[in-house]
Amino acid sequence: MIYFVGAGPGDPDLITVKGAELLARSQVVIYAGSLVNKELLSRCAPGTEIYNSANMTLQQITGIMIEAHRAGRDVVRLHTGDPSLYGAIQEQMDILREAEVPFAVVPGVSSFVAAAAAIPHELTLPGVTQTVILTRFKGRTEVPATESMASLAAHQATMCIFLSVHLIDQLTSELLAGGYPEDTPVVVVEKASWPDERIIHGTISDISARVQQADITRTAMILVGASFKADYTPSKLYDRNFSHGFRRGNQ
Ligand code: SAH
Repeated sequence: MIYFVGAGPGDPDLITVKGAELLARSQVVIYAGSLVNKELLSRCAPGTEIYNSANMTLQQITGIMIEAHRAGRDVVRLHTGDPSLYGAIQEQMDILREAEVPFAVVPGVSSFVAAAAAIPHELTLPGVTQTVILTRFKGRTEVPATESMASLAAHQATMCIFLSVHLIDQLTSELLAGGYPEDTPVVVVEKASWPDERIIHGTISDISARVQQADITRTAMILVGASFKADYTPSKLYDRNFSHGFRRGNQ
């Protein structure tokens, strides 16, 4: 069996219990070397065959998986954060399906939630926004025209922007063009949950200069939205006048 496992954002304790157990008992591990914390590999049993996928092609990666499965061995494919976001797992799963090799996905703590925890701040506030947009700025990978930064900005929701900190100057111009007010808060979290994590606070108009000054060019999450400063209506979830499935109001 092949397991695509979310390694979490960096802190090795942020892998799931299920992911950690699979790491400890699989005979082959292929990890995404650029972002996965190598400390996680200390969970592998002695003798585990370990590959860093950073310098491998898709065919080499899936070749190892297929061969291992046919030899009766389990494989963990360790991806950063949660594998379903910008993980390039679809093409791996499609090749495995074609080869009739069984696989499963074990989710992980994505970097956008690790960034929210680092601040720490809630991403959805009643009366401010109830929507979170996960996206990236167009770079070497195209983004469909219907999802331009400006058109997404029109919603004034909370945005979590991956893979884009090196383009923050152009990105913030598009956010402004799309309708966010200039004083909308932006928080950039570099290496959330790692020991050298850094958090830079600013607004759409000054965050680019702050990020350049801090020399942040990779592995950072850009969080944008009024929630990071707004007055909000406290949630009804714990309001004593509000009833829900687990609690009667006014008690
Ligand atoms: N699947 C991953 C995302 C992979 S794309 C996830 O769910 O998090 C890589 C991008 O994720 C980086 O460019 C950066 O924007 C973000 N990222 C990954 N780890 C991060 C971390 N510890 N702190 C902040 N951003 C991170």
